[in-house]
Amino acid sequence: MSFSEKTRNIYNQQINEIKEGGLFKQERFIHSPQDANIEVEFPEGSRLKNVINMCSNNYLGLSSHPDVLKAAHEGLDRRGYGMSSVRFICGTQDIHHELEKKVTEFLDTEDTILFPSCMDANAGVFEAILTDEDVMISDRLVHASIIDGIRLCSAEHDTFKHSNMDHLEKKLQLHEDKRLKMVITDGVFSMDGDTAHLDEMAALCEKYDAMLFVDDSHASGFIGKTGRGTHEKYGVMDKVDIITTTFGKALGGASGGCVSGRKQLVEMCRQKARPYLFSNTIAPVVVSGVVKVLDILSKTTERRDKLEKNADYWRKGLTEAGFILKEGDTPIVPVMLFNANLAQNFSKDLYEEGIYAIGFFFPVVPKGQARIRTQISAGHEIHHLDAALEAFVKVGRKYDILGKTKQEIIEKYGM
Ligand SMILES: *Cc1c(COP(=O)(O)O)cnc(C)c1O
Repeated sequence: MSFSEKTRNIYNQQINEIKEGGLFKQERFIHSPQDANIEVEFPEGSRLKNVINMCSNNYLGLSSHPDVLKAAHEGLDRRGYGMSSVRFICGTQDIHHELEKKVTEFLDTEDTILFPSCMDANAGVFEAILTDEDVMISDRLVHASIIDGIRLCSAEHDTFKHSNMDHLEKKLQLHEDKRLKMVITDGVFSMDGDTAHLDEMAALCEKYDAMLFVDDSHASGFIGKTGRGTHEKYGVMDKVDIITTTFGKALGGASGGCVSGRKQLVEMCRQKARPYLFSNTIAPVVVSGVVKVLDILSKTTERRDKLEKNADYWRKGLTEAGFILKEGDTPIVPVMLFNANLAQNFSKDLYEEGIYAIGFFFPVVPKGQARIRTQISAGHEIHHLDAALEAFVKVGRKYDILGKTKQEIIEKYGM
């Protein structure tokens, strides 16, 4: 017997530990396309409930946009369902090349290479461009996929305290003698919704001859005046050497990612990045959809403007109602509850009220920093936001946390 009683018990015990720790993650089945309103089956087997979605990455509301669907259908008809190949064997179509050019134009970089996902882009990029003579200096709160990519690379790794420029400068001095230095950050940090100070980081990189790497997965399409990303917001479009991003969030929400930046770095990825060389091409249907998304976003800033207005409206409403938010100016608006149980109960009660918003707690965020992370979309109308706000206030009153300080909430519910 290969899966013996003993083996089975080891896994059962581990799964139980996850459950007992209150950390068991359960899927909720959605029976509709992704949108401001969704039909949810939760728990499994229960009647479908129509709820307002307040926690998707569908920032621009393009996941089910009719023009994107139409382009995807055309891509399917003209280029087939799949390529059954990696890029360099027989998996590159004209539309893959077209999408790479469009991304390059949109992000205002020199060149772009597609990956099956941004997770794959981050997994492959460092190993492809750095060696054991080099150093990677990353913000301590970067995304899990960057941490994995760093693990796969033989260059030395060091970190700096979150968004702390003095600390970053010290680390740059410490590693001054390395052949190549790379400073690594997220553009927008997904848990808190804050942005990296790319202007200051770019200045430090210039001073110490380091490259600057930004993962803009939570920014591409809507941060900055024309939605190009965090580098546009901080006026350093020409100073970021590598951007990785995903097509699985604002840019249509299907899947796929890329590395975009200096042409030598992109070329190194094309020659050496393992997820690019050894994993299948992005499906033509997805490529066609993303091409359409970039066409829409290049013509008009209507959606990112609406998103900004919606996010301002939502922040203002929650603040006036007396909730404690993480400060910021992105569509990621964390409502702080501090206690993990409170966050879970709050989320459950919201669901009863027809609002879908998930509680986040350790280990996704630090202990004592549990929250409901809300994410605003251009797909939301004011009536969605008003209905959500009404539900938040109702549940907030139930738990008596409106207008209360952090200290008061922690005293009442514990950390
Ligand atoms: C979502 C996300 C990723 C992963 O993107 P996928 O394309 O879904 O693999 C990578 N980095 C950051 C910062 C993200 O938020």
